[in-house]
Amino acid sequence: MIEFNEVSLEARAPDVANGGRWIPVPLVQRIDPLTLRTCRILTGVKLQPENPPDLADLTNPGGFCPFCEEFFEKVTFEFERDVVPAGRIRKNRAAIVPNIMAYSGYSSVGIYDTTRHFISLGQFTPEIVNDALAVMVEHSKAVRSARPDLVWSSISANYLPSSGSSVIHPHLQSSHDLVPMAGQRELVEGARRYNGATSRSYFDDLASQERNGSRYVGTTGTVTWVTPFAPRGFQEIWGIIDGVGDLPALGDSHISDLADGVVRVLRYYEAHNFSAFNYSLAGGGPDGSTMGFRLVFRILVRSNPDAYYRSDVTYFERLLDEPLLDVAPETVAKAAGQFFS
Ligand SMILES: [Zn+2]
Repeated sequence: MIEFNEVSLEARAPDVANGGRWIPVPLVQRIDPLTLRTCRILTGVKLQPENPPDLADLTNPGGFCPFCEEFFEKVTFEFERDVVPAGRIRKNRAAIVPNIMAYSGYSSVGIYDTTRHFISLGQFTPEIVNDALAVMVEHSKAVRSARPDLVWSSISANYLPSSGSSVIHPHLQSSHDLVPMAGQRELVEGARRYNGATSRSYFDDLASQERNGSRYVGTTGTVTWVTPFAPRGFQEIWGIIDGVGDLPALGDSHISDLADGVVRVLRYYEAHNFSAFNYSLAGGGPDGSTMGFRLVFRILVRSNPDAYYRSDVTYFERLLDEPLLDVAPETVAKAAGQFFS
């Protein structure tokens, strides 16, 4: 059994409704069983958006966009032919091209749909997400076959500037490296420790233990959706992919199951006035599968790009690495679960 531990911080604060009389306030620090990273679950704080943001100006195509179809093949480059023999990879309206900014050994950018400059959260369909993930995975297979030494792969996304995105046109990115990223290494090392101690897969155990519990969101085929016990950010949801430890091992059915769930999560986010997100799907490296690592699609919301918005990343998250959350994962699971029924 995976043990979920939390510590009461025995917080005390003046009660505004009662003349400032000091009272105990519920506050816990939760410890992630895999990484031992901690977060705090607050009570009574309202950091969630009450209204949807107005994205009209921000998402207006007006002018040049490198990912819009009229410019796309003129301003983006082909892959090296020894990696991708056809030069380009496209599927329906999705495409993947080399990222001109190198942030990894191989850095690529995928576009969900070159014919639509903006796709709001509620406009994403399983087909759109499926095609985009499919081109990313096809490219991952090509890179890993041409460069077997680049064993650390991931597919991730920013969406809208408040999430870190510099291009409005919705896109996703991939990395293939000699070494893992810090968060990727942490997940893999946690899974290795658990496997060493129990001979079991942490993620298989997590999926079966959480199924139908208070953090269970739903299932889409081979993907089990849950909220993490100790999230790293607001409204975080995980999709655990059954039996797959690395990106090149993803088959068509895994990708379509994943796309189905992603669209449900995005619809849930939109229904609750969110508009920006980050996600990541990080591979488990050379021996991930054999020691029970499983691909986990991790997605969370970011601040809405309102004028003068309050960043959701404060000194707690940026410097002290201790996310503050005002909505418990169990509450998120219950609300998001409605989009999976
Ligand atoms: Zn565009």
